[in-house]
Amino acid sequence: MNDGSPFSSPLLDQVGGFVDGAWILAEVRPCFVVTDPANGEVLAYVPELGAAEARAAVEAARAALSRVGSLAERRGWLTRIAELLTEHADELAMIITRENGKPLGEARGEVLYAAGFYAHAATSAEHLVPRVLDERPRGLTWTVHHRPAGVVGLITPWNFPLAMLAKKLSAALAAGCAAVVKPAEVTPLTCVAFFRLLERVGLPRGLVNLVAGDAQAIGEVLCSHPAVRVLSFTGSTAVGRKLAAQAAPHLKRLSLELGGNAPCLVFEDADLDATVEALVANKLRAAGQTCVCTNRVLAHASIADALATKLASRVAALVVGPGTEPNVDVGPLIDGRGWDKVHDHVEDAVERGASVVGGALADRPTETDGWFFRPMVLSGVPLDARCMQAETFGPLLPIATFTTEDEAMAIANDVDAGLAAYVFTADGARAERVARGLRFGHVGLGTATGPTPEAPFGGMGASGYGREGGLEGLMEYVEIQTVPSS
Ligand code: NAP
Repeated sequence: MNDGSPFSSPLLDQVGGFVDGAWILAEVRPCFVVTDPANGEVLAYVPELGAAEARAAVEAARAALSRVGSLAERRGWLTRIAELLTEHADELAMIITRENGKPLGEARGEVLYAAGFYAHAATSAEHLVPRVLDERPRGLTWTVHHRPAGVVGLITPWNFPLAMLAKKLSAALAAGCAAVVKPAEVTPLTCVAFFRLLERVGLPRGLVNLVAGDAQAIGEVLCSHPAVRVLSFTGSTAVGRKLAAQAAPHLKRLSLELGGNAPCLVFEDADLDATVEALVANKLRAAGQTCVCTNRVLAHASIADALATKLASRVAALVVGPGTEPNVDVGPLIDGRGWDKVHDHVEDAVERGASVVGGALADRPTETDGWFFRPMVLSGVPLDARCMQAETFGPLLPIATFTTEDEAMAIANDVDAGLAAYVFTADGARAERVARGLRFGHVGLGTATGPTPEAPFGGMGASGYGREGGLEGLMEYVEIQTVPSS
């Protein structure tokens, strides 16, 4: 980046949108500012694109569909993308850390995780070969083709600026689609750097396009342009609902990966030390700003105090600070709005009778202080507290209690969201029983790990519909066509 800012990266020598194989740079247009959440430093000025550029991107993508390569060629592109990500993991990790705040080790993990989606799509694309079926009574042979859906719109959030795009774009490219990508306004630079790498892959011009800027205007184009056949969105449930309403008259196929409110059920026979380790890793990745992280700890009443004590001592040992510093476990929150929400959830729970057992509320920082929030543990949290009802998206571990398995499941299911849930018990039969009763798309039994490229991941209820990863994720981007012949 050559704008005199304190941050430079060889992958950010051009900062802007990328439409029809050309960069749209700042020069005369208005720009938005990208800042570092750890200290408020300006990282870059990014041209603010809107409806006109989104339309141009869709048209470029439509034209590129005729240049999409064979399955073998597409698998080669995907493999090359995975290699490039791996080769440039350190540079990309630094960009993620600077604009998103997460510690460098986590950011590097995100890059390799993203690479895994491209590598996996390169192999799973083999499932797209036509399937031949015989219909005995009439003697017909049916061929089931997986045709590319066409132009796809991909809208991504800031919490995993590279990985959330990887889940979508890997499957879209494998299927033979052309894409228009809209990254989050607070973290566009990772995407810009990624597109600099994509230029080295040799994709046909216009096959991938990047349009950062006016979300409302770009969203409207992606929802209404006739050439866009699939819109895949990861973000909040509120915006997901809006896009679903906007896209409905145009009968767009939607894939919506929305907010979560994950319960973690800890039964009386659980290994508490192992549970605490799993919970801390799951909850405090990205400072608690993940859709899959535990939002509500539901503990059996007989072990709730012991669990709270262990959790409190574990989080007290964590180092909170800028993600660029070594040994930091928890970086800043993304912005002041995010910080205020966590603070509000703590205050609200305490007003309703919860006790603070780990951490303490601090005064609101300024942007230059960085949006740091020390992890907190609350016990005795009533079920009507905001942190039980809605996604906190921050480093807060609120503990509520239950006494029976049925009660635990009823509390867990008593929310609109249905993305991830976790169960810790030594009783395998109970774990299976509880998983069957939970209305969540991803249920960890004795583990709180998140999605992988191999497994389909997605939500139920207000967490959206559609799947990413696995064969199901690939199928989001194909049209199935059956061709009978005699
Ligand atoms: P968000 O505010 O919904 O934004 C997500 C994306 O949508 C951003 O690119 C944003 O652009 C764009 N957007 C906002 N308003 C829009 C509109 N009217 N039309 C079109 N696009 C619009 O969500 P976020 O705060 O970035 O992300 C956090 C949320 O994502 C959480 O709820 C989290 O649980 C969820 N999430 C879900 C998953 C999953 O797999 N289910 C994974 C990760 C995150 P701007 O940034 O320019 O406003």
